[in-house]
Order: sequence, then structure tokens, then C-alpha cells
Amino acid sequence: DLLVVGSANADLVIGVERRPAAGETVLGSDLAVHPGGKGANQAVAAARLGARTALLARVGDDAYGRLLLDSQRAAGVDTVGVLVGGAPTGVALITVDPSGDNSIVVSPGANGRLTPEDVRAAGSLFHASRVVSTQLEIPLETVVEVVRSLAPGSRFVLNPSPPRPLPQEVLAACDPLIVNEHEAKVILGGAAAVGDTPEDWARILLAKGPRSVVVTLGARGALVASAEGVSRVPSVTVRAVDTTGAGDAFTAALAFRLGTGESLAEAAAYAARVGAAAVTKEGAQESFPTSEEVAAL
Ligand code: ADP
Repeated sequence: DLLVVGSANADLVIGVERRPAAGETVLGSDLAVHPGGKGANQAVAAARLGARTALLARVGDDAYGRLLLDSQRAAGVDTVGVLVGGAPTGVALITVDPSGDNSIVVSPGANGRLTPEDVRAAGSLFHASRVVSTQLEIPLETVVEVVRSLAPGSRFVLNPSPPRPLPQEVLAACDPLIVNEHEAKVILGGAAAVGDTPEDWARILLAKGPRSVVVTLGARGALVASAEGVSRVPSVTVRAVDTTGAGDAFTAALAFRLGTGESLAEAAAYAARVGAAAVTKEGAQESFPTSEEVAAL
């Protein structure tokens, strides 16, 4: 089984002609409210592919918290680990202009109140999980506690988003660490030189301690790196409509397939197909494919 530990947000989206400057008010489109947050997205993506998935997260005792619980349950996610209360549900206020550029304000809310104690209290979920997948939209000390709570033989997958420097204890547990180009640069900090290729990033990241590394490259596919070397994951050509959530779909699919015993290269090849399918539709959770849709790609 797969356990996702992470964030759950309501994404509040308004289309505008022009994003407002300081002190300015602009009128926009009708409000659209979508369930989001990287943890919630990954759990829905995995469940839709057929993975037995549980989510450990925190939402507020409010309408957005109920929206998030409903979308998890509709996808078939086990929500026994979704804690309620302590702060309002996390919210992302998003304005999008006609060129597609956006401005986003995130209120972490209840995500910031998911504590190490919450992780310790969820021991039975950890015991039932072969793979545990996490991101960085929850407190770092909570991520550290996730690493310490892994059941023997279970595998830790981390997408360090939003990226920040990671403690060695967390880096060393990653199998794999999954980064896009931006996240790779932040995690590498001064270790990346101008002219380095994504293959170089993967090797330098691997030398920092993770057991394996995956670098995602958008339409160009991905790279996997482990003690066996660095290899390319074939890209899948699709007509991209909206890349929101592609990374979450990729990570969820990879974590799911690693749990079924596939090799990193096999799981990444499947994940690339899932990521590609997700960019052919608008939105995040709405765009995640079923296994039938992946097979038909
Ligand atoms: P993120 O959303 O985290 O920035 P990427 O954009 O690298 O991550 O996308 C994750 C994965 O989704 C890629 O490695 C690739 O497999 C797939 N993907 C993303 N964009 C496309 C695209 N335009 N065409 C085909 N596959 C894509």
C-alpha cells in the first residue's frame, strides 16, 4: 500500500485581464474552487491508477476541508489519516492573466499544523505501507519524523517542493529524490555550475546521499540515477493543454509502481506516461488519468 504524507489546499482561481499592482483593484472572472495541494494531488493520482492509497494530512474544520475530504473519498483514498481542525484549511489564491501567467498567495493554514506528533500517532498507516511519499508543503520537522517512522523495508519517496536545503537524514532516506529542473538547482545550491547538464545534476545530487534520484524534464521526459548509473526515461509525445499537476501525477505513479516491485527505470517509464496523460487535460486532480487512460495513450 502507498501512504502519502503532505498538504491539502483549496485552490481559488480567478481569471483577470491584468494582475493587480500594489493598491490596485481589478475585476476578474467567476471564482473557480479546486481541490489541490501536492499531498492531496498525489493521493488522488495514485488511487485513480488503482493504488491502495492512504493520505496523512491536516485540513480545517470548514467548507474547504470538507471539499478536500470529498475529493479524496471520491477517488477511493483512505482518509482515516486526514486530521481535521487546528487552523483553517490551506488555501492558494491564484490570479491568472490571459497569457497564462499567474500570481499565487499560499496560506498554509492547517498544513503548517501537521506535526511530528501527528506522524507518531499514525503508526498503523506506516506499518501498512511499502512506500511513503512526501513533499515539502508541510513543516520540515514533520518530514524528518516521517523518515524516522518508516516501517522496516519500506521505501521513502520525496519530491522536495517547494525546494529548500534538506537535512542529511532526509536526503539519505530518499529512494528516490524526485526533482524538476528548478528544484534540482535549489537543492544543489552552489554545487551546480553553469553548463552542467541534467545528467550532471543527477550525478551531483546522488553524491549528496540519496539512494536514487529522478530528474523530471517536462516534455523531454526524465532521468533516473542510482548506483547502477544514469539513464534516460523515454519522453511521451502528447499535445500539452495544461501542465499543472504533471509532477504530482509523475511522483504518485512512480511511488505506486515501486510498491508493486518494479525497478526504478520501469516505474519511471510508467510515471512518464502518467505525467504525459495529465498534461493533455486542464487542471490538476481533474486531469489525472486512470490506468485504462494510460494504457490507451
Ligand atoms: P513539474 O510539474 O514538477 O515541473 P515536469 O514538468 O518535469 O514536473 O513534469 C513531470 C513529468 O511529466 C515529466 O518528467 C514528463 O514525464 C511528464 N510531462 C510533463 N510535461 C510534459 C509534456 N509537455 N509532454 C509530455 N510529458 C510531459
